[in-house]
Amino acid sequence: TILKEPPKIQRLDDSVVNRIAAGEVIQRPVSAVKELVENSLDAGSSSVNVAVKDGGLKLIQVSDDGHGIRYEDLPILCERYTTSKLSKYEDLLSIKSMGFRGEALASMTYVGHVMVTTITKGQLHGYRASYRDGVMENEPKACAAVKGTQIMVENLFYNMIARRKTLQNSSDDYTKIVDLLSRFAIHHTNVSFSCRKHGASRSDVHSIATSSRMDSIRTVYGLSVARNLIKIEASDNDSSTSLFAMDGFISNSNYVAKKTTMVLFINDRLVECSALKRAIEIVYAATLPKASKPFIYMSIVLPPEHVDVNVHPTKREVSLLNLEVIIEKIQSVVESKLRDSDEARTFQEQT
Ligand code: ADP
Ligand code: MG
Repeated sequence: TILKEPPKIQRLDDSVVNRIAAGEVIQRPVSAVKELVENSLDAGSSSVNVAVKDGGLKLIQVSDDGHGIRYEDLPILCERYTTSKLSKYEDLLSIKSMGFRGEALASMTYVGHVMVTTITKGQLHGYRASYRDGVMENEPKACAAVKGTQIMVENLFYNMIARRKTLQNSSDDYTKIVDLLSRFAIHHTNVSFSCRKHGASRSDVHSIATSSRMDSIRTVYGLSVARNLIKIEASDNDSSTSLFAMDGFISNSNYVAKKTTMVLFINDRLVECSALKRAIEIVYAATLPKASKPFIYMSIVLPPEHVDVNVHPTKREVSLLNLEVIIEKIQSVVESKLRDSDEARTFQEQT
């Protein structure tokens, strides 16, 4: 056989590298919303409002009442790897904020057009700046602003034709965005959230700050969910290796749904854990005769050094030390709670 000449290896342009990386952090409109809302939460906001046009492809707008952004930071705000949350690698061990990579805003500027309006405490007016490809386009302009930050992302994926096409053909991300905000709303009960289609007078998620998680679940997911929930708690502090605490709500035997809803926060991060989800589904299928899929809200708190938050750029998954032990413990708590509630129900029906 004849060997071909090897192709020449070239160094990619920064602009190509950045756009490829950005497409990984911001996979779809809902990923941009997640990053923006997490930034608002990191900024200590008590109110976060989202408006979306065309499933997020035309416009995503997130407004908060958080601490705002300093004027002098605006020039580097959307550069890649600029952050106020991390300074050395070791900080990752104890990171409390949801952000830390300094990549989200930058990524949005590589695949969309970003405009930021912000005001910090004690200022008479705010500033507005727009960004493209990591760069601030012109000097920030003074403008009216009340409190906090508003970020607008327009024309997402305008420069990624294939991505835009698949997203336009698939059903709208708006449903995913509403789902995301619903999840944040029932965990962060001290923050009020809203989410609406741009221009609509009615919002599709509207939560008000409350001290009761149950109230917030009722507001966001409705009475049919809220009235069929059981409170659960579990913790493990007898062994020296695995310390964890869990609390939440799970649906009882009266709840009916075709799909599992699992809202999971680990150390206040909204994450997915398919192993845990499957483990709980198994308990439901085995314990309740009626094959309904569960509703689960669960918040797990672990020592920060047991959670690796940096396994994926979207931070959607985290990896945990002692996952098997935690899963077993949770399974047994879920099982006993379900049995108790099912027995109580059967007893009620008989009497
Ligand atoms: P990260 O969140 O990982 O730090 P981002 O690109 O999401 O990176 O944001 C960069 C920085 O911009 C943050 O560290 C924060 O200082 C600032 N910032 C972003 N959004 C907001 C906001 N809504 N309110 C206040 N500061 C913000
Ligand atoms: Mg961030």
